[in-house]
Amino acid sequence: MDYDVILIGGGPVGMMLAGELALAGVKVCILERLKNTTPFSRALTVHPRTLEILDMRGIKSKLLEQGRRLPAGHFASLDTPLNFSVLDSSSNYTLFLPQSEMEKVLEQWALDLGVEIRREAEALSVHQDEEGVDVRMSGPQGEGTLRSRYVVGTDGAKSLVRKQADIPFEGHNATFMAILGDASLPGLPPMSVKSRMTEQGIVSILPIDATTYRILILDPERSAVSKDEPITIEELRSSLIRTAGSDFGLTEVKWMSRFGNATRQASRLRERRLFLAGDAAHIHFPAGGQGMNVGLQEAMNLGWKLAGAIKGWAPEWLLDSYQAERLPWSTALLKNTEAQFTLLDTSPGVMELRAILSKLLLEPEANYQMAEQVSAMNVHYAPDDSAPSHILNGKRSPELMLRLKNGRLASSYELLRTGQFLLLQLSSGVNSSDEWDGYEHLQVIEASLAAKAANWHDVHTALIRPDGHIAWAVSVSESDPAGKIRDGVVRWLGDWRSLKGGLGRAQAGIK
Ligand SMILES: Cc1cc2nc3c(=O)[nH]c(=O)nc-3n(C[C@H](O)[C@H](O)[C@H](O)COP(=O)(O)OP(=O)(O)OC[C@H]3O[C@@H](n4cnc5c(N)ncnc54)[C@H](O)[C@@H]3O)c2cc1C
Repeated sequence: MDYDVILIGGGPVGMMLAGELALAGVKVCILERLKNTTPFSRALTVHPRTLEILDMRGIKSKLLEQGRRLPAGHFASLDTPLNFSVLDSSSNYTLFLPQSEMEKVLEQWALDLGVEIRREAEALSVHQDEEGVDVRMSGPQGEGTLRSRYVVGTDGAKSLVRKQADIPFEGHNATFMAILGDASLPGLPPMSVKSRMTEQGIVSILPIDATTYRILILDPERSAVSKDEPITIEELRSSLIRTAGSDFGLTEVKWMSRFGNATRQASRLRERRLFLAGDAAHIHFPAGGQGMNVGLQEAMNLGWKLAGAIKGWAPEWLLDSYQAERLPWSTALLKNTEAQFTLLDTSPGVMELRAILSKLLLEPEANYQMAEQVSAMNVHYAPDDSAPSHILNGKRSPELMLRLKNGRLASSYELLRTGQFLLLQLSSGVNSSDEWDGYEHLQVIEASLAAKAANWHDVHTALIRPDGHIAWAVSVSESDPAGKIRDGVVRWLGDWRSLKGGLGRAQAGIK
């Protein structure tokens, strides 16, 4: 075996997943056909849940240095923005940050963790058997074959892995092509934000930095053009004049592209040793700025599970839980972007509907529901059936402020930076401390809550997964907390008695 995992595609999702795997001690390689990270940014927004998971890996602070914080998001560019500041999160805002910068930060993080990134390397085919996967590739040294135990297709919308795994990509083709341009608009005051909806089309203009604007145009006259037909500056200019009423002195065009409302989802995220994440698994109209965010959340869900399978501790069901947990959320993403696209229409009925929805969003509860959805703060997974019931089971963990036994204050997100599970004992330990000795992937913390957190008041002990979701929480009213905690740890992290030998074997490369 050359690697434990080969990731095909080194966009944001591939970089994130590679870092996750390397953090867990897995030997991982990325094959990326591009020589450098792309200077062109499709995505410009990083949403609250993504900022939370990046905080759990120490990456958020690096991004904050480079981005601009915005207190709001939007749904279908309705007049009422989504107020994210009401979200119960230490990251209750959007970070405006070009994808190119995000990719550089993630790439550096992955490299620092020891990921091997092979650039100008294109995967040509994948072939799996009982023990592993052969990846045929072409790189600077010519063609060759690499072998790994697993392959993940983080190779974007046209995913080779998805095609070779024969996974259907269900949905519909684009019915409308929109235009994107990054350029200077000297006719606008610096840092202006502009949008306009008329019968001639829809235009949004927002500043990327002091000199460059992102121009997004839905121009009915150009909506039937093929995605592959190159855009000319004259086309951009005339669409801009048609929809915005002026070209604002359009100059220094840095990038132009077409994007559409094709909406498709992989019907499975796994085919034995092959997995899919990010745009390889779903495409949609980029309304609300969610695609990359969701892909990064998928990487966070898959990384530790795949590492567990490779290291030998993962219970049988864990790897399949990636699809069970994530597919419903990508379906939800497709539905919400289809709904948003439907609202991007200037016919009288839709304009009336937009006005009604804009008014509705002024209601705090309506704002909260929509803000939770677009920011992905509503993401939760099915509760663990075998654990005693608790409202927190399967939910995302907010950042908890903890007072450790030595009196020091610590954030739960900081503790998660090791990539281990966190067994958080908020009542004095009922299990003997050497009980967890075999679990290298478990961090046991005795602490008390230094600040209140919703639904945590009765928690005796909780197991927080490496991706920041709560596997289970045991209440102080539980009659046998020690037994329930032991059972819960064994169910999620394997049985320590077999692990003591088993982990050693896996690490020695025998397994
Ligand atoms: C106009 C627009 C605006 C957007 N805005 C936002 C936003 O604000 N927020 C947001 O969250 N999302 C946004 N998105 C979506 C976002 O850009 C994508 O969801 C994101 O890039 C997906 O990341 P990925 O890593 O899955 O795939 P990609 O970024 O497509 O990366 C895939 C990589 O795989 C490589 N590759 C492909 N095939 C092979 C092969 N055979 N061998 C080797 N390498 C290969 C490619 O070169 C590429 O680098 C937007 C999209 C568009 C079109």
